[in-house]
Amino acid sequence: MRAVDVIARKRDGAALTTEEIRWFVEGYTRDDIPDYQAAAWLMAVYLRGMDRRETVDLTMAMAESGDMLDLSGVVAYAVDKHSSGGVGDKTTLVVLPLVAAAGVPVAKMSGRGLGFSGGTLDKLESIAGYQVGLNTDEFLQQAREHGIVLCGQTANLAPADGKFYALRDVTGTVSSLPLIAGSIMSKKIAAGANGIVLDVKAGTGAFMKTVEEARALAQLMVEIGRDVGRDMVALISDMNQPLGNAVGNALEVREALDTLRGGGPDDFRTHCLAVAAHMVRLARGQTAEALPELEAELARRLDAGEGLAKFRELVAAQGGDVRMVDDPVLLPQAEYVAALEVPTGGHVAAINALEVAEAALTLGAGREKKGDPVDHAVGVIAHLKVGDRVEAGQPAFTIHASSEAQLEQARTRLQQAVTYSQEKQEPLPLFYDTLTA
Ligand code: URA
Repeated sequence: MRAVDVIARKRDGAALTTEEIRWFVEGYTRDDIPDYQAAAWLMAVYLRGMDRRETVDLTMAMAESGDMLDLSGVVAYAVDKHSSGGVGDKTTLVVLPLVAAAGVPVAKMSGRGLGFSGGTLDKLESIAGYQVGLNTDEFLQQAREHGIVLCGQTANLAPADGKFYALRDVTGTVSSLPLIAGSIMSKKIAAGANGIVLDVKAGTGAFMKTVEEARALAQLMVEIGRDVGRDMVALISDMNQPLGNAVGNALEVREALDTLRGGGPDDFRTHCLAVAAHMVRLARGQTAEALPELEAELARRLDAGEGLAKFRELVAAQGGDVRMVDDPVLLPQAEYVAALEVPTGGHVAAINALEVAEAALTLGAGREKKGDPVDHAVGVIAHLKVGDRVEAGQPAFTIHASSEAQLEQARTRLQQAVTYSQEKQEPLPLFYDTLTA
């Protein structure tokens, strides 16, 4: 086989065979195929697409390009979650310990933030000492001993995806349905999940801007999972305004801790309970009818502090300073804190989640490119939700900054983030749809 022929066949719109896809993915992973040919191939896939069978073949070739974790010796049924990325999405920090507290072991690998979208590992590193870099043996041992692990990807998990993703990032080929679906699903499958709950975001603060786009991605991932024998749930959730209030690493950890103490913003709590209930349902082999009762059980556990105790155990197991869990004021704090007020009374018609994320980026909460450092202390608290009735002078945002200059830049951005109306406005839904297989 020659790389140029596989590229040309895709360029001309052919469906590639299973052998061609596997040969290309393996060749690129081994460095036998150079970046320029892989880039041309990615662009051909981007422009011509892939059918379902090709997408499954791509997913499995990428999953099998490195280690395939076997969790069967550790847990009876491995359940995982994945969020397609959003603004203020600290769901994993609450859902994972809550699910573990319900007796379902969870061993999850998460990612870092890139661009406007935050990452769980950066949030966790707000806790002094927390180690995100575990090797496979440590990962398995902690899962066995504590029933909860939350770390970065071990080195040899779906290495083909790592290489392709870096190339897509610089060749304008990220936003392709088969490439995104293959990328996400290859990592989940390689990480050993039997059941996967996908939280696919739709809106201004998501990669998928419309519910239709999010549904198409969710549908494709559910089908891939089903074709390779995984139990799948995909929630289509709103990302037209930040989830919860906090955007920024330590601020989000603090909000997650509030939620684990039975408080926290209503939308965030409800969102976490829904995601956790789907995970527990899959692990216990229950039908969708069980969901309301599961949510009630998980709410009881949350209010009783069981999730908090599990989070504390997780932090201790991974070397973090548990005093920060017990007393969140010890988390990194920004030097400059200022409120931005609502200019006139009325109703909140829209909050541009992307603007809020960009303001947090301006403050240093995220990274423009891979490897950039992040400032854990900074970020934004968004006090408003679409549909709220507001009075002039009440706080719209609280900005946490490390310098006055950055605070002013963030203030300028946030002034444009909210649209007010004199008319009454409907609140946004939390979820638009649920797909299962
Ligand atoms: N997240 C991933 O892991 N891969 C993509 O391609 C897009 C989002």
